[in-house]
Amino acid sequence: MIPRLKPYINSEEIIAIISPLSNAVGKFEHEFARTFRTKFALAFPYGRSALWAFFKAMGIENAEIVQPAYTCSVVGHATVLSGNIPRFVDITLDDYNMDLDLFKRAITKETRAVIPTHLFGYPMDIDSVNEIVKEAEKLHGHRIYIIQDCAHSFEAEWQGRSVINAGDGAIFGLGISKQITSIFGGMFTSNDEEIASKLRTWRDNHFIGKILPEKIRRAIYLPAAMIAFNDLVYGFTFWLQEHTSLLKDLTDAYHLDQKIHFPPDYLHQLSALEARVGIRQLIKYPQIKSRRREIASYYFENLNVPSNWALPPQVEGATYSHFVIRVPDRDKVIAFAAQHNIQLGQLIEYSMPDLKEYEKFSGDLKFSNSAISSKSLINLPIHPSLNEIMLEKLIKIIISKND
Ligand SMILES: *Cc1c(COP(=O)(O)O)cnc(C)c1O
Repeated sequence: MIPRLKPYINSEEIIAIISPLSNAVGKFEHEFARTFRTKFALAFPYGRSALWAFFKAMGIENAEIVQPAYTCSVVGHATVLSGNIPRFVDITLDDYNMDLDLFKRAITKETRAVIPTHLFGYPMDIDSVNEIVKEAEKLHGHRIYIIQDCAHSFEAEWQGRSVINAGDGAIFGLGISKQITSIFGGMFTSNDEEIASKLRTWRDNHFIGKILPEKIRRAIYLPAAMIAFNDLVYGFTFWLQEHTSLLKDLTDAYHLDQKIHFPPDYLHQLSALEARVGIRQLIKYPQIKSRRREIASYYFENLNVPSNWALPPQVEGATYSHFVIRVPDRDKVIAFAAQHNIQLGQLIEYSMPDLKEYEKFSGDLKFSNSAISSKSLINLPIHPSLNEIMLEKLIKIIISKND
């Protein structure tokens, strides 16, 4: 079975778990900043903890935070749990990012931060974002922070410039499903010394170390994932997913979309062993980025899909965390591929304003593109370890589904 995602890990990461290294978290931060060419990087247990802590550290409360209607629910959760109000913006079906006209209209005098999100690795037009925010700052007479969500994009480029440095800060998720991983984990980057030092102080005063059982669980998690994602074993992993609630129970502890919540360990700082894995992964980042782009190009060249399917845009500078296709009957396509030993992904199956606990934040606005995406997107495997034979097989199966 070809899995829908697969962390790019091997024995190097396993060795990193058991190899001592002094000040590993500090070194991970340093290497992260160097790799992504930002001044400051601050480690967190999750990306969501980083965003939440930013609002706390900056004293942003009871404010409107402008963000996409179509994004990972943890962004909304971090907003609400920090005492703020999400203000949703519908996306475009061209690149699944916020519609800039709607974005501009969503900013009010209550807005204190905006979260440009580079979904699926598609860079937003960061120049327009900056221009719109500058105008709004002038109009409303206070600062509006631009915090980019780079959890999908990492180093996507807009007109040749990395999106990471386009705003006041950026958040990253480093869980096992992300382009690079520190097992769990998140990062906040910034070029702004004042923001970085406020956030660091706040974090160091409020986050606590992980306790031993948590460290042990994390140490086991990576080798377990390596086994679960092994080519020979993945059929069984898939079976477990389909026929038992074992894996679902494991992930639900960390993440529920329907309920505004954080996992119990959201304040337990990234552990040294996770940082050591992260450091190994950073070395591989350039390779991961270019291999994802290669696979995307291969798909663009070779995928002929039915006329009622919509391929994703081919965008210079995109990093393709996911290769998404809109299809009329998602369940059918996914079932068909599974019969042929290919697992297709189905990533964000909700539009934020439609989630019960978020209804009260959405007013009378319609978010139709977000709703369409939530119901019709599938994504093709695009992890760097896919080889040519797998890719050919994938193309053949997808193309044969011409109904
Ligand atoms: C993964 C992700 C995050 C951060 O997630 P954590 O699980 O909290 O690390 C943020 N935004 C998006 C779009 C994501 O996919």
